[in-house]
Amino acid sequence: MSSEKAKFETKCVHAGIEEDVYGAVVPPIYQTSTFKFKSAKHGASLFAGEEKGHIYTRMSNPTINAMENAIAELEGGYKALGCGSGMAAIHTVFAALTGCGDHVVCSTAVYGPTNTLLRDIFKRMGVETTFADTSNLSEIEANIKKNTKIIYIETPGNPTLAITDIEKSAEIAHKSKAVLIVDNTFMSPAYQRPLEFGADVVVHSMTKFLNGHADVVAGLIVVKEEEMYKKMRKTLNQTGGVIDPFNSFLVHRGIKTLSIRMERHAENAMKIAKFLEQHPAVESVSYPWLESHPQYDMAKKQQTSGGGIISFELKGGFAAGEKMMNTVKLCALAVSLGGVETLIQHPASMTHFTMGQEARKAAGITEGLVRLSVGIENVDDLIADINQAME
Ligand SMILES: *Cc1c(COP(=O)(O)O)cnc(C)c1O
Repeated sequence: MSSEKAKFETKCVHAGIEEDVYGAVVPPIYQTSTFKFKSAKHGASLFAGEEKGHIYTRMSNPTINAMENAIAELEGGYKALGCGSGMAAIHTVFAALTGCGDHVVCSTAVYGPTNTLLRDIFKRMGVETTFADTSNLSEIEANIKKNTKIIYIETPGNPTLAITDIEKSAEIAHKSKAVLIVDNTFMSPAYQRPLEFGADVVVHSMTKFLNGHADVVAGLIVVKEEEMYKKMRKTLNQTGGVIDPFNSFLVHRGIKTLSIRMERHAENAMKIAKFLEQHPAVESVSYPWLESHPQYDMAKKQQTSGGGIISFELKGGFAAGEKMMNTVKLCALAVSLGGVETLIQHPASMTHFTMGQEARKAAGITEGLVRLSVGIENVDDLIADINQAME
């Protein structure tokens, strides 16, 4: 069924699903590593790209393609490429677009291992990165060099929820012949579609909201046009960080409920953010839909909701945060985010530990910051749990 003109909720249910010979409503799982050729000539024409078809699952597979097409449609992109993890997707885009002597401008507030990947592996390969507070556009402009190939932003940023203006960042990138890449993991295409604001590439950890059930590790690259797709595909085929058919099936199943899950995540998060904001034990709360958020207007411009992630600082700093995490009962003490269950974690000692204290300080990640991934439970139960833990 073609769902191109359909509304977002309809696309979540129907995108990527094609006619099946048996009339199956759900696309089957092609759990195969390889595909038979009808003849030597057929095999040769598939390899030459003269005929459409599948050759080998690292190159393409019908179950993987169905999921890729679905999410490419949700993001408003040309095509997508499924990867074995979010980090595999992020590694692939840098490997595809940079080489020795190139320069990258990256948000200071990014997922910890993205920061480490650039400062470790890509630095060793001769790619230099400047980390900048991209929520301030003049910080991006000031750090652009002649050899800048990529502006890489995460918005809302991890874990501070700092917002970067996607449209303006794209203008700055294109003026200097660089590419804008956006990590859209926190919002998902339900609430933010960076390609519509001029981004060239979107990356996702599908481990989070897209799959949504905390039972898959996977990533995705979505591109705006064909030339970029060819570059990414070639790199992914060489480096091999692809997703497998079964995980593709699970993610495709997950996105059918994406819009309805995101609604509850966001509704719960807004109520909890307001509750935290008025609580005497809380020093500050960061949530894009609170008027107190420093880039509230920017968030309203490019997001259609505040999303499901909140970060906050307790008055008692690190000790109070540690105590709270050991006292919650319903909220699980675990890293990751975007699943149906509420998770709580401490970035300084967990997700952003490898960055080191200095880089954390520069990124505004204080030692007492707590990150909450709000699930789809009843919000009163969640508030009761958070409240008893803060008593
Ligand atoms: C989790 C995450 C990643 C990395 O994804 P994996 O699937 O864990 O490899 C990248 N970016 C953001 C914003 C994330 O939350």
